[in-house]
Order: sequence, then structure tokens, then C-alpha cells
Amino acid sequence: MSEIKRIESETPLVDLMNGSARWEIPVHDHGFVALCDVMPRLVPEGQTADFAIVQAARVSYGQGTKKVQEDRGLVRYLLRHRHTTPFEMVEFKFHIAMPIFVARQWIRHRTANVNEYSARYSVMPDRFYRPTIENVRQQSSVNRQGGEEPIDVGTAQQFLDYLTRAESLYGEYEKLIEKGVSRELARCGLPVSVYTEWYWKCDLHNIMHFLSLRMDPHAQQEIRDFANAMYALIEPVCPVAMEAFRDYRLNGVFLTGLELEALRTGEALRTENKRETAEWEAKKKRLGLG
Ligand SMILES: Cc1cc2nc3c(=O)[nH]c(=O)nc-3n(C[C@H](O)[C@H](O)[C@H](O)COP(=O)(O)OP(=O)(O)OC[C@H]3O[C@@H](n4cnc5c(N)ncnc54)[C@H](O)[C@@H]3O)c2cc1C
Repeated sequence: MSEIKRIESETPLVDLMNGSARWEIPVHDHGFVALCDVMPRLVPEGQTADFAIVQAARVSYGQGTKKVQEDRGLVRYLLRHRHTTPFEMVEFKFHIAMPIFVARQWIRHRTANVNEYSARYSVMPDRFYRPTIENVRQQSSVNRQGGEEPIDVGTAQQFLDYLTRAESLYGEYEKLIEKGVSRELARCGLPVSVYTEWYWKCDLHNIMHFLSLRMDPHAQQEIRDFANAMYALIEPVCPVAMEAFRDYRLNGVFLTGLELEALRTGEALRTENKRETAEWEAKKKRLGLG
């Protein structure tokens, strides 16, 4: 058997989560995003998980410069230039409780490791998502997939009554399980507002991709609320990477070739596609161009 060499760290190691079992942010009425673990969790005193990104990148770029502000410059350079693999050296494990309609959107992100509550094995808890009356949104007139301004109070109340009727099916669900109907079938009558839970582990590169899509105003408000909670939990763990993420991804604007041409020439966008033109108008607003 080979002997294991145990090499001590030159600097004392500290727990990035300060010995906590988890950091949790409540979301909506019954939901939460809880950070359960981080890799690296033990980092040299005075460092954050950004350390692992820099450490991995220096395999490519050599020791070079080592000062803290140079580390920051390196992380920002990597993100700007889509040198993504060093960001995969940081991993996060979350425990999340969310309504099934949010989970349906979330599970489309295929690069995470997921283990979900089994409604075949266990009874679904009696927890349903209900927006507050002010959050009942009317159908957007510009985005077929979206909601926008709050709807009038009367219609909002009608909507909440409809949810109450759907939630009342929970009593039937319990009764049918008591009568011996299998849990895997009994659940079929529950609405998609019922809560599920899962453990979700993902690396920072893919989390940034998830956050850039799900913190975006085009994503449904409910999943955005969860994505914002996830962002808030990650930010103190790798502040330099998340600052770069804000600067270069979240708050950045991607311009197409046609848009650059319109910008250079000052002429209209060379397309007959109305949606593309509307997108260009929205980008111009963000660029402060009217
Ligand atoms: C606002 C919004 C609206 C949406 N509307 C719809 C909709 O109406 N209908 C619908 O079905 N979906 C919809 N989606 C889901 C969307 O199409 C994507 O499935 C989802 O956002 C996950 O994106 P992704 O595949 O890039 O992410 P991930 O699955 O997290 O993958 C990350 C990246 O890994 C790579 N990757 C992962 N798996 C593969 C693979 N098998 N092959 C090649 N590359 C891979 C890709 O580069 C990918 O971008 C919507 C998403 C958003 C944000």
C-alpha cells in the first residue's frame, strides 16, 4: 500500500459557512432555498471560494502574479473571456422547497445533480403556493409567455378562490390514500401549486447560467424569486466571481451583428422581424440611446 502524505496548509483553514449546518432564505409562503454545503468549504484564512477558481486557473496560466487584486483581475478576465472551467471548481449543494410548476421549469437545467421527494413513497405534505392578492398578474400584452401588471382586485379574488377549490382536493387525496389507493396514483388529482422538495447540487459555471436565465425579467416571477434567493446565498461565498457575473453577464447586453451595424450606421435594424426590432429597441433603452 502506498503511504498517504498529509500536507498541512501554510495558512490556517477556515469554514466558509462559519460552522453553520445550513443557510436558509424563505421564499413565498412555504418555500425556501437552503445552502447546505460548498466546495471548497475550508479555505485559507482571509480567502473565499474564489480561491478555488484562481487556484485552478493558475494551472493554465502559471503562478504569475499572486496579489489579491490580481486574483480579482484574473477571475474577471476568465469570466469576460468565457474561460469557464475554473468556475466549475466551486460547487454548491442546496435543499429547496418549491411548487411543482416552478420545479418543472427548474429541472430543465440538466447539469445539476438532483434528488427529489418521492410522492410514490411518501404522502405529499399539505402545502400549496398562493400568490398574495397584489401578485395576481394579468396576461402580458407583449409577451405571450408572461404576466405583467396586477389584475383588478375582483378578478384576483376570483383566482384565489379557484386555488382554494383546487387545494381542497387535498382532503380527497388523504381519504383515498387511507382507503388504500396507491400514493403514486392518488397524487394525480393534486394541483401544480403543491410543494415538492429536492437536493440540488451544481457547479458555479452552470449556476451562473441558471441564474442568468432565471433572474432575467423574461423568467416567471416565481422562479425568479427562488433564483434571487440562490444568488443571495452564493454571493458571500464567492464575492469576486459574483461581482464579475453581475458586471459581465447579468447586467451586460449582448449585441448581434445586425445591432452593431445599426449602431455604427445610425440606421434602422436591417430586418423585417417585428420581435427582433422590439428587442433592439429594448436594448437601445438599456444603452441609454432613447
Ligand atoms: C424565459 C424562458 C422561457 C422558456 N420557455 C420554454 C418553453 O416554452 N418550452 C420549453 O420546453 N422550454 C422553455 N424554456 C427552457 C429552455 O428552453 C431551456 O431548456 C432551459 O432554460 C435550460 O437551458 P439550458 O439547456 O441552456 O441549460 P442546462 O440544461 O443547464 O444546460 C447548460 C448548458 O449545457 C449544455 N448542454 C446541456 N445539456 C446538453 C445536451 N444534451 N446537448 C448539448 N449541450 C448541452 C448547453 O450548452 C446548455 O446551454 C424556457 C426557459 C426560459 C429561461
